[in-house]
Amino acid sequence: MVYPQTRLRRLRMDPRLREMVRENDLNPRSLVCPLFVTEGKNKKEQVGSVPGIFMYSIDLLLKEIKEIVDLKIPAVLLFGVPERRDERATGAYSKTGIVQTAVKAIKDKYPNLLLITDVCLCAYLTGGHCGIVKTRTVPVVEEAANGEDTRQEPEAVIYNDATLELLAKIALSHAEAGADMLSPSSMMDGQTSVIRAALDTNNFKHLPLMPAVVFSSAFSVPVNASCQPDRSVEALSYQLNPANSAEALREIEQDVQEGADIVMIKPALAYQDIIAAARKNFNVPIAAFSVSGEYAMVKSAGSEEKKIILEILTGLKRSGAELLITHHAREAARWLSGQFLL
Ligand SMILES: [Zn+2]
Repeated sequence: MVYPQTRLRRLRMDPRLREMVRENDLNPRSLVCPLFVTEGKNKKEQVGSVPGIFMYSIDLLLKEIKEIVDLKIPAVLLFGVPERRDERATGAYSKTGIVQTAVKAIKDKYPNLLLITDVCLCAYLTGGHCGIVKTRTVPVVEEAANGEDTRQEPEAVIYNDATLELLAKIALSHAEAGADMLSPSSMMDGQTSVIRAALDTNNFKHLPLMPAVVFSSAFSVPVNASCQPDRSVEALSYQLNPANSAEALREIEQDVQEGADIVMIKPALAYQDIIAAARKNFNVPIAAFSVSGEYAMVKSAGSEEKKIILEILTGLKRSGAELLITHHAREAARWLSGQFLL
């Protein structure tokens, strides 16, 4: 019999020692709670097909935030869900838009809460894309019975640079309302630098940016289904292919060069290799956004749900994320304050 020379179990047997060599800790101070705000009063509606994730009117949102603050969760990431959309996403940058109004109300009541806002067009734009859509006609060549026949067909195109101008306006309106950090998530090329420039020239040099590196993921569908009703395959033209890691790192590199202070990776669970690679390659804090599909999946886990949630969050920490943006933020904070350890 050959007995092992190296005995890694020595450090695991004594619970005191096991805790001393723990490499990653969960703490409510890392948590960011995503929140959806909508128009109206006394409104609480389920978002998409996800039981447990709601959008709130501002009056009820403030009650939710009280609970979040009491749980010592330091930050929320706010998404607006307006009642009306249009072709120019005007609700996204209106001074009286849903996010701008909510930001003012939240900062008024909870000035110490770190208020991050999502900067995008998809909830405000007819069709639900993250960029301005224009329709152009393209020739379609078909074999006809009497030779070649060319006809024109409409094709939807996302206009990157026209979108950038709107993103800058949205960002500025959030900053003026009082947001503490902005999170551009449209995946348009150049969004971080354009927003940075708009902020810098308007006395918001101090405001940090956390652009999202977004994969075209089925994990985001449960929420997107409600917020982006007509979205179709064109999203593939701006969001990342889930199969690509080198391209994701190029995207992160570009964001860092353009002035990202923190880089968000969205979704989280199936992209831990990207989080780990980002941590290794870039010296910026990483935020992992665990999206609605991940939340729904865990919610069906039955009696092990609590352990699974904390295990996933610890896994994201271990991968290298400093910030954990999760729909589980409230329950995790509650458990963590009771010192529930894995
Ligand atoms: Zn979007």
